[in-house]
Amino acid sequence: MNINNVRFEASFGTSAQLGNSDLPEIVFAGKSNVGKSSLINKFFNRKNLARVSGVPGKTTTINFFRVDEVRIADLPGYGYARRSDNERRRWGELMEAYFATDRNIRLVVQLLDMRHEPTEDDNTMLGFLEDAGYPFICVLTKCDKLNKTEREQRRKAFSENPYLKSAIRVIEASAQNGEGMKELKDVIEQSLADE
Ligand code: GDP
Repeated sequence: MNINNVRFEASFGTSAQLGNSDLPEIVFAGKSNVGKSSLINKFFNRKNLARVSGVPGKTTTINFFRVDEVRIADLPGYGYARRSDNERRRWGELMEAYFATDRNIRLVVQLLDMRHEPTEDDNTMLGFLEDAGYPFICVLTKCDKLNKTEREQRRKAFSENPYLKSAIRVIEASAQNGEGMKELKDVIEQSLADE
């Protein structure tokens, strides 16, 4: 996968826009403000591929990117408290439709804020991934914000968390200094190579 060939493909806000897809697909998921857009931009070495905003919540869309014959799905962030009921419903319908379509999902990259315990929504998502049998990894974001001691504490807490037991890998990452990007690329490439 040559990440320099990444390009924006489509942005869908309603479930009717989603069709089946047989291209190998890598999915990015996480709660709102976890640093998903920043991580995607850092990973692909682009400033504005995914929109970063200081305001959590943004718009509820699934964004697709293409890297040659690989599809990248950027799922809408969840757990934004100030989202309206209407937006919440739209989020649920979109996610349900996404996972109900026939897809070739190779890996789900589940983002979690390294500084905090996973939220209830995070646990729901992790439980869903496990129950549905999707291969997933956890990327612990914003690791640059922790000092050495905090980082060790958080690492230990995540390693003991039952919701992370099925994760293929747990990667500590920073969109600020690029930590974890090489490891993430290696795992993604491995998942694409697996048949
Ligand atoms: P999203 O809602 O998950 O897409 O999150 P964003 O990428 O928009 O990031 C939310 C906020 O966290 C922004 O203010 C980012 O600048 C900040 N942020 C994201 N990733 C990192 C990181 O790795 N380190 C630090 N220090 N801040 C980050």
